[in-house]
Amino acid sequence: MSRPCDVCFHNVYSYLDREINRIQAWRIRRHLNRCGECQSAYVFEEKLLLLVKSRLREDLPPDFIDRLRRALSDEK
Ligand SMILES: [Zn+2]
Repeated sequence: MSRPCDVCFHNVYSYLDREINRIQAWRIRRHLNRCGECQSAYVFEEKLLLLVKSRLREDLPPDFIDRLRRALSDEK
């Protein structure tokens, strides 16, 4: 259930949105440095989020990240 990659992917949006504490952020960064698969996924999410934010030019609605995460995980 909680493989490092699953935990990493589950938290990546929180990490991008600066919603997690420093220890969790450190764990994710450490995993990203070691795991190429998660790193490329993270880079993709980061670009996507930055793109969305720059297009909207305003704060995202509070549930946006959850909806985006669900939409993406439904694809699998
Ligand atoms: Zn990984």
